[in-house]
Amino acid sequence: MPTPGERTKKKKYRRTPGGKTKVYFERDRHGKASCALCNAKLAGVPRQDEVRKLSKTEKRPSVPFGGVLCNKCRTSVIEEAIKIKEGIKKLEECKIGKRQYIEQALKLLE
Ligand SMILES: [Zn+2]
Repeated sequence: MPTPGERTKKKKYRRTPGGKTKVYFERDRHGKASCALCNAKLAGVPRQDEVRKLSKTEKRPSVPFGGVLCNKCRTSVIEEAIKIKEGIKKLEECKIGKRQYIEQALKLLE
């Protein structure tokens, strides 16, 4: 019978050296954080199951869109936001998935 804390963990069967099969409970490990636009692994961001014991500055990078976008996507989003602000480009010409981040970047630029 699992204890209440073990009910959410993954159940695994392992054979012991004595030849008996025992139930093991595995702790769920979260995957690495990935970029919201291109799915690249984010640097400087711990796994979600590690976050609880860390200080605020250890949880995510302090740059704009830190912990959300990778460095390449962040650069291109801010560049496009500047182009829109200067009137070189229109928001409708940008990719649909990028638009919400460009709008946020435009607010940061004000
Ligand atoms: Zn990216």
